[in-house]
Amino acid sequence: MLSQQGSRIEVALDGTTVFAQCRVPGVVPGDLVQLKGDAWNRLVVSISPRTTELRRLGADGRKVKPIAANLDLGVVVTTVTDPAFKPRLIDRYLAAFWRGGMKPLIVLNKVDLGTADELAHARSELEAFAAVGVPWFEVSCSTGDGIEPLREALVGQLSVLVGHSGVGKSSLMNALSGHRLAATGHVNEDTGKGRHTTTTSHLRVLPGGARVIDTPGVRTFAVDFESAEEVEAAFPEFARHARRCEPGCRHQGEEGCGVGEALARGEIHPGRYKAYRGLLAETTGEPDPTFGGFVCGHCGADVVPDGAGSGHRNHCPRCLHSRHLDTRPGDRASGCGGDMEPVAVWVRRGGEWAIIHRCGRCGAFSSNRIAADDNQFVLLSLGARALANPPFPVDRLDQEVV
Ligand code: GDP
Repeated sequence: MLSQQGSRIEVALDGTTVFAQCRVPGVVPGDLVQLKGDAWNRLVVSISPRTTELRRLGADGRKVKPIAANLDLGVVVTTVTDPAFKPRLIDRYLAAFWRGGMKPLIVLNKVDLGTADELAHARSELEAFAAVGVPWFEVSCSTGDGIEPLREALVGQLSVLVGHSGVGKSSLMNALSGHRLAATGHVNEDTGKGRHTTTTSHLRVLPGGARVIDTPGVRTFAVDFESAEEVEAAFPEFARHARRCEPGCRHQGEEGCGVGEALARGEIHPGRYKAYRGLLAETTGEPDPTFGGFVCGHCGADVVPDGAGSGHRNHCPRCLHSRHLDTRPGDRASGCGGDMEPVAVWVRRGGEWAIIHRCGRCGAFSSNRIAADDNQFVLLSLGARALANPPFPVDRLDQEVV
């Protein structure tokens, strides 16, 4: 017997599906439980083995928290804007869906709000997910656009809605059900963060027969990977390229790495690769070899990962070049492995220095923090170059411009 708190469980007509989060330890919406007792005092006697499960790591980074069970479909809700579109949070949810055994789907909400540029940006990122088999639906919960096709896609399945707070999960639940079920919040105009309006998960049966579990919004989502192999499995697009790698290759710049070569050819999305490296470092706790010291590919200097303000380096302090292949927090570029040329220098509020790099191979720009005592001559010449070539935001030098 699991608990005497079974009376808090709402059950389906067949008496076994858990509809609401309850106090029975380990029981989550979507679980199939066996009960005994009467309507006033039901006891959960066992939980059926789960076919699929969505779970995440708790705030302590160790305890695994199941969120919902027996799901067919995981639905990430995201937005064109308000809050900003965050593709790297989508990677995390997709990883958790694949790991938990369910099919993924992305909903891009608030299409009524974004500018044409914002919508185009979101779509270009979503193309990368579509290329790995994840469909997306564009909707507006405010206007109702796109709701009907989404409702049809959910029919006959048990789905879970997840996403950053404020993206419109509660609004979506209301729009899908055709009436107001869940309270909705608002997005803080200063922080762009949503208020958590859904505080517990609930399973709802929608008109037409779809069954959907909504979940409280989160600001971060940590996946409980246990090994580097599990992280790699969450990036199915790597598989055919990784066949060419040496056993144990972690795709972090190793000689002959098929994934690195595919990245350089543009066959793997740089953002997805960046997400892989971030999840890998989080999972293994091992320092990324790129940051364990490197020989500068541009000037040949031996670079050690200290003294760069942020505790690691991704650029050479001598020539200020870097490689377009960095993925750890603070390294905003990620990608093709090209040589990144320093093209401008910026000063942030608080006196921190940052440098703008342009990739000589793919042309991408990125910025990263640098130590002010890095090659002073190059820094000065970069500053002078910018001043000599307006537009340069001279009037904003005291503001945060990076
Ligand atoms: P949740 O935290 O993910 O459940 O988000 P909510 O459903 O509470 O929505 C957060 C805010 O976004 C609320 O003020 C909603 O009215 C608003 N919102 C949700 N969907 C849309 C949409 O499609 N368009 C617009 N303009 N606002 C939306």
